[in-house]
Amino acid sequence: MTANSEYLNELQQQGDFLTLSRNNEWHLAAGAFTLSNGTAVTIHDTGVIEFQPKCDTTIDVVLSSAIHGNETAPIEICDDLIKRIILGDLQLAQRVLFIFGNPQSINIGKRFVEENLNRLFNGHHTVEGVRMNNERTRAAKLEQYVSDFYQRGGQHRERCHYDLHTAIRGSKNDKFAVYPFLHGKPWKKSQLQFLLSCGVNTVLMMKSPATTFSYYSSFVHGADSFTVELGQVKPFGENDMSRFAKTKATLSALISQKEVIYKEFDASDFELFAVHRSINRTEQDFTFPFSDDAENFTGFSKGDLLATDGQTCYYADVEGEAIIFPNADVALGQRALLTVIPLQLTDNII
Ligand SMILES: [Zn+2]
Repeated sequence: MTANSEYLNELQQQGDFLTLSRNNEWHLAAGAFTLSNGTAVTIHDTGVIEFQPKCDTTIDVVLSSAIHGNETAPIEICDDLIKRIILGDLQLAQRVLFIFGNPQSINIGKRFVEENLNRLFNGHHTVEGVRMNNERTRAAKLEQYVSDFYQRGGQHRERCHYDLHTAIRGSKNDKFAVYPFLHGKPWKKSQLQFLLSCGVNTVLMMKSPATTFSYYSSFVHGADSFTVELGQVKPFGENDMSRFAKTKATLSALISQKEVIYKEFDASDFELFAVHRSINRTEQDFTFPFSDDAENFTGFSKGDLLATDGQTCYYADVEGEAIIFPNADVALGQRALLTVIPLQLTDNII
């Protein structure tokens, strides 16, 4: 038996694709097998596994986690779904591609090894004059796997991609999703209904292109794609999984049912925000006036200090301007803070 078929046998028996990926941090030989229910399983690489059920399908679903390696709860959710599929406990009704983005960063318990993977998508992995590293190579490969997956599914099918994360700090709105910039295309009620079913009622509408995985799938492949933040980071095994029960049940239904009926759309169920501005760190001396544990979506009064970048002070210029993802430790030139303001739903939704 070759090493390749040995790992395939073990995977088929135990369904533990997460451990297999963690034991092969940057590369795993491709392989394939078929489950007794007819579902075709293809391992494209470490952390990248595709399931194609025998039945007719209508949606091509990408579920990614571990784009940041220390964000454990989504990894645990996907690990469990993969196990149940391989062991035959969850029968699929849709094509699914699971991605554990950065296995080495899972192993070291860090957000990333050398570079933040979620700043490298949509071509930003390959920049003339910038040295390639493992994360840049990985971002390029992940784009290719997603592209191939959607292309094999074919045109005129529903495409979705949920990139699952947990936030570094707590949030007034525990779970929230980022709706990538759609370049004028309308937002979709059906997607907001899906998110609500996952326990996510707060959605941040982006107004410009990004380097994120979700923006890539949305922009390049027309997928309904979101970065979904499921709560605060905890080490493996310390997550209170009951807080993720709705997310897990909804994802499970999405991939195992021909159709899922969600609660009727009601705009008052949601808190929507639009990005107001992005504040970059340009100086070594960069500080926030609020404490390290200030929560995402904390609002400020007009005129309040938001950040100090060397000699430059940033003040809230809109009443209720709220902070998202503050991180004073980012590399020079990168985003240290995003601010948002409340948004009313307009006509631009279908
Ligand atoms: Zn993350």
